[in-house]
Amino acid sequence: VSIIKQETTGTLLFGCTIGAKIFKQNEFFVVFKNKDFKREVFDDDLRIEQNLIGIRGVESWNAQDPERDRFSGLSIGMNGSLLVCADANIKSLSRSKNYDILVEKVLESATNTQQATNVLQGEVKKGYGWTNIVASDGENVTAFEVSKNVFEESNEKYLTRTNHYIKTPGYTINYSQNAGTKTRYNDSLEKLEQATDIEDIFGLLKTHRSMKLGTSICNHGTIHTVYSYVFEVSKKKNRTIRLYVCQGNPCKNEYERIDLRFPISEEKADEILERYPSRRVKRKLELRAF
Ligand SMILES: [Zn+2]
Repeated sequence: VSIIKQETTGTLLFGCTIGAKIFKQNEFFVVFKNKDFKREVFDDDLRIEQNLIGIRGVESWNAQDPERDRFSGLSIGMNGSLLVCADANIKSLSRSKNYDILVEKVLESATNTQQATNVLQGEVKKGYGWTNIVASDGENVTAFEVSKNVFEESNEKYLTRTNHYIKTPGYTINYSQNAGTKTRYNDSLEKLEQATDIEDIFGLLKTHRSMKLGTSICNHGTIHTVYSYVFEVSKKKNRTIRLYVCQGNPCKNEYERIDLRFPISEEKADEILERYPSRRVKRKLELRAF
């Protein structure tokens, strides 16, 4: 068990809760993320291609002005091999690449969690910010802890991560108490263990602990949950793939259900953009219409 010294004076605020659960191996699994941000309102940007759908990552995660948001990489996404991958901040470092690019690299070239390992081992030497990544292909769930190296944990059931290392030896980092990373981790793990269906996953993502300190999975503290996502994959006879996305705190906003099918056609891409809750995406669609 790693012990993390909590500091109340820190100015670093971390957010995001990620995880995955395989309900039935190679048949039914989910990957989820609550995206926490310094601003209360955020509008996503998407990358959609025939064999990839992803929500773009943000480098300027504490920017107050939406016009100054700098996007790169992907913060959660899925590819045509039904590999799903999401990340959660540990530490952004100056003069290093945005860790969201790692998720993008995985989804661009890996078809399963084993290949994801190879991609990350090859990339990590190039110098990225520190992050947790959770990936699943329905056969395994793997958590990757990225620092100067990659440490991983893998099983056939479930894993979750917030904003600190669990398996990486020798890394005790001081966290601002506001981040609530340990509390959220424990809550998420407990709920994930108990979850028997996707409704339980939505319940997990709406979990509150303290509205003030930012310790809730559904965050209302000094950081805010600005989006909640669940990728649901059923590989049974009538294969269904869905993205549930909620803009704002999931405890008081509805999830939009977006049905997916690979390869994603142009018509389907337009339909996704229509349904996706984001003013940034809507503006793009309007511009395209002229
Ligand atoms: Zn809430």
